[in-house]
Amino acid sequence: MNRVNALFEGLPKLEPGAVWLVGAGPGDPGLLTLHALNGLAQADVVVHDALVDPGCLALARPGADIVHAGKRGGRPSPKQPDISARLVREAKSGKRVVRLKGGDPFLFGRGGEEALALVRAGVPFRIVPGITAGIGGLAYAGIPATDRNVNSVVAFITGHDATGVVPGGIDWAALAKGAPVIVLYMAIKTLPEISARLMAAGRLANEPVALVSNAATSRQSVIETTLSEAAEAGRAAEAPAVIVIGDVVRLRAGLDWLGALELGRKLDGDPLGVTPEIRDAG
Ligand code: SAH
Repeated sequence: MNRVNALFEGLPKLEPGAVWLVGAGPGDPGLLTLHALNGLAQADVVVHDALVDPGCLALARPGADIVHAGKRGGRPSPKQPDISARLVREAKSGKRVVRLKGGDPFLFGRGGEEALALVRAGVPFRIVPGITAGIGGLAYAGIPATDRNVNSVVAFITGHDATGVVPGGIDWAALAKGAPVIVLYMAIKTLPEISARLMAAGRLANEPVALVSNAATSRQSVIETTLSEAAEAGRAAEAPAVIVIGDVVRLRAGLDWLGALELGRKLDGDPLGVTPEIRDAG
């Protein structure tokens, strides 16, 4: 057995008639899990989102049927019930089905809805978590979601609801007070409203913000700005973007490892002004 086969030894079989709901991570195929890779290697059909990187699809079993079920704002796309119905149909016809979703299927990914449709139809399934854009994508920009000197809470928020507006029912005052770091998904369009609400609730105009577009892909780009300038910066940002608000953004000045790799420079400096020795003693 060669080493690649040994990797899959002991991992579950994707049975005919079953569906795996798989997170592909934010882009870089290197961020796929072994379960994801193992599913792709066995699949007869891969039903994927627009956000899934082509490099991940290229790892599917040669001959697998690759079906695009993309849902991107503004473009015509299959409706959610149609996607769920397709998964059920493919499984019932005896196919091994991988449903490949960007990031993690259970974080702003409708994985729960699709899984419930499978439950209702009696289709066996497995959930394969993925690296979410709001953590892994930020890491590729050199921004940790938490830092002991900054935050012990991080909030993940979707910038729009099913109808495209800022979700109702968010307690902005509580959020502004209780979440030092806020990570926004699907929020480029609603950033003017969200930043205004946070400032109205007491967040500082000069608080750092980063917009990370196409994170963990070859097209990654990062805009660093402040809360008061964020609305303007949003106009220049490409979708998809994760947006992070909070002092962890300052760490990027020292931790932008990808930029350092590309420029061939060494990392140095401590943007929070706290040496590792002091932190580790604390
Ligand atoms: N389930 C996904 C999120 C899907 S919602 C996850 O866990 O990552 C779609 C949003 O995810 C986008 O609007 C954007 O905010 C974010 N996103 C997904 N992939 C991204 C990427 N490569 N770069 C930046 N943002 C990304």
